[in-house]
Amino acid sequence: MGPQDQPDFINGVAKLQTSLTPRKLLEALQAIEQLHQRKKDRHWGPRTLDLDILLYGGQIIDDTDLQIPHPGLHLRNFVLLPLAEIHEQLIFPDGTPLVLHLENCPSDGIVRLSSGDPCGTTD
Ligand code: ADP
Ligand code: MG
Repeated sequence: MGPQDQPDFINGVAKLQTSLTPRKLLEALQAIEQLHQRKKDRHWGPRTLDLDILLYGGQIIDDTDLQIPHPGLHLRNFVLLPLAEIHEQLIFPDGTPLVLHLENCPSDGIVRLSSGDPCGTTD
């Protein structure tokens, strides 16, 4: 997605339970990004940390500053694959199964890191 002339990056997907509303959750994630001195020079360019809300239960939100499901979710193999690792049977709020998006999204360019090795040694 976006410019290709940038360093490799690590992606992960987490599932969590929260009492925060989607907007409050976004604010909390952005505060964490700031704590990690997030820097970004260009759109879709390299950044130190990017925390996105992919899904929030079955909710659909389409505001200018918050879209859920995340608009790039179904197009990004580096998001779909880790998401499938924690919830392969997931059905998107519009009724589309995750596996269908996966079938339409080639997994080129992705290398799975071995578990317990966050430093980048591959399987
Ligand atoms: P991206 O994550 O698409 O590469 P950014 O992290 O720079 O880009 O996000 C820019 C803006 O995207 C944020 O300021 C936020 O308001 C908006 N945004 C819209 N929907 C979401 C979402 N689901 N999760 C995170 N940010 C979102
Ligand atoms: Mg983001």
